Amino acid sequence: MKTCYYEVLGVARTATADEVKKAYRKLAMKYHPDRNPDNKEAEEKFKAAAEAYEVLGDAEKRQIYDRYGFEGLQSRGYSGPGDFNDIFSHFGDIFGDLFGFGGGGEQRRQGPSQGADLRYDLPLSFLEAVHGVEKEIEITKRETCWTCEGSGLRPGHQPKTCPTCQGRGQVVQSQGFFRLSTTCPHCRGQGQLITDPCADCDGSGLVRKTKKVSLKIPAGVDTGSRMRLQREGEGGRKGGPPGDLYVVLHVAEHEFFVRHGNDIHCRIPLPMAQAALGCSLDVPTIHGTVPLEVPAGTQSGDTFRIRAEGVPSLRSRERGDMIVEVHVQTPTNLTKRQKELLEEFASIETSHDAPHKDDDGFFKKLFQKSA
Ligand SMILES: [Zn+2]
Ligand SMILES: [Zn+2]
Repeated sequence: MKTCYYEVLGVARTATADEVKKAYRKLAMKYHPDRNPDNKEAEEKFKAAAEAYEVLGDAEKRQIYDRYGFEGLQSRGYSGPGDFNDIFSHFGDIFGDLFGFGGGGEQRRQGPSQGADLRYDLPLSFLEAVHGVEKEIEITKRETCWTCEGSGLRPGHQPKTCPTCQGRGQVVQSQGFFRLSTTCPHCRGQGQLITDPCADCDGSGLVRKTKKVSLKIPAGVDTGSRMRLQREGEGGRKGGPPGDLYVVLHVAEHEFFVRHGNDIHCRIPLPMAQAALGCSLDVPTIHGTVPLEVPAGTQSGDTFRIRAEGVPSLRSRERGDMIVEVHVQTPTNLTKRQKELLEEFASIETSHDAPHKDDDGFFKKLFQKSA
């Protein structure tokens, strides 16, 4: 089901041509792809508004639509503009210099442009990420060529107007009902050709340079953390500012510690006798060691939370916790004496707390179920 063109533009059926134009202009400004990068919903709305204006902005097509609806338009060979380039071609007619289309386009195409943003992937060790670290990275990037100040022209020379597009940067082709406007392939949309290129940058306006950048990485970063270094990206052209550099961090795993948010999890082995009798332990943490009292009767898998021995929060600097999971070890390769003691222990345990004599015990329940 197609939405009514009047509803798309939010105007009454009696709206004047001027009101239709104003409504479309408002929507197109709001949902313009330049203002909503990577926003599918905005793109759809922008396309829908363009299609509605294609019809309602044209007296003849509007009349057909009012009388016979969508089908009426289709049977007369009018279908909505499916192609994005086409939307821009008629878009330019009403907006002029607003977005750099049509009349005002020259300035935007040939004026200063900002350099591209760059990404650098930086690996860190687990402890570097937890404690923070200072790093120096070396990046190779294209910087503004100062011989030609980013213009690409040999000093003292002027660019020539592109003969293919007569300096417009765009070439327009007619395709049946629609006009198709595409970037000029000869000058790549610049409208100008550099016939005397700068010797230092071969006319590109940019030169390749390697630069060292110091980074102060705060404690608590994790894989996927991003640092933005303003103006450390690629150089701009024709006096435009440089882009930004984004450093994306990748943290290695640790042999013993596992990070969950700002908490650190760690599994420690504990001999069976110590788990049964209870003991004091020195537990390794990312900040050193802390004492931990293990109570008598501790089971394998029991966890203990040690407050504020985890990773500092990037925002509040408050530390997460350290969570210790005990892994009780059953002894193997017993000596003769150990075996005697354990056998004695087992015989006492059986007479004192015999599993099959225990009315509420595990074995009783198990036998009842299987019987
Ligand atoms: Zn140059
Ligand atoms: Zn051209």
